[in-house]
Amino acid sequence: MPSRTPYLAANWKMNKTVAEASDFVDTLLPRIAATQSDVVICPPFLALSEVVERSRGSAVTVAAQNMHEAGSGAYTGEISAAMLLEADVDAVILGHSERRQFFGETDEALSRKVPAALAAGLEPILCVGETEEARDADQTAAVLTGQIGADLAGVDHAADLERIVIAYEPIWAIGTGRTATPEQAQETIAFIRDLLRTLGAGADAVRILYGGSVKPGNAAELLSQPDIDGALVGGAALDPEDFAAIVEAAG
Ligand code: PEP
Repeated sequence: MPSRTPYLAANWKMNKTVAEASDFVDTLLPRIAATQSDVVICPPFLALSEVVERSRGSAVTVAAQNMHEAGSGAYTGEISAAMLLEADVDAVILGHSERRQFFGETDEALSRKVPAALAAGLEPILCVGETEEARDADQTAAVLTGQIGADLAGVDHAADLERIVIAYEPIWAIGTGRTATPEQAQETIAFIRDLLRTLGAGADAVRILYGGSVKPGNAAELLSQPDIDGALVGGAALDPEDFAAIVEAAG
């Protein structure tokens, strides 16, 4: 079975000016100098270049929080893969539940965005997860099967599956302070890995992250689960000391 390098991603959402982003990176880098993990910062678009420049030569790579699938065109307010590449961005979050909920991001759009990111050489961090109602109705497996099947429909599974990072983020745990238990997160992420195995041979190399109220105090237990390869962190990733502690918890 391929070994999977731990992957810790900081999703800043609509937080931090360029100056604040710069201060964060300057505080974080010395704290994580010894890490063997992949550490990814996902700033707002305007701070991408600053974080890229300040992180050069470190373990940190940079991801955008969204991307349009078209190469260019009349899509006011949107950003293309080529624009991200020009800024030396490495990856892009796609399908975050806040984009699905507040900005109408659909599985159909994601079925175009994921292959567009891969074609451009960007690593997609695809977010999936169920609502509280779906979990209570025992629909978690059905929701995840639907999202992953649709969102990866345009991907060449044999060639590209292992280039994708999946973030399992139960919506009821995002920004709520309510974390999935390590057992719940492990069980669901193992289910996602089994689902990926039905798609392609690269499934065991895919990094699958847990996201939802990860904090320094609960990170080690979550990250010690066999199928949890890292974390996508929102609130706790706004503080460089907290995020550094989460990176440290990955070993
Ligand atoms: C997220 O936004 O991806 C997230 C997991 O947020 P939080 O850690 O604040 O729950």
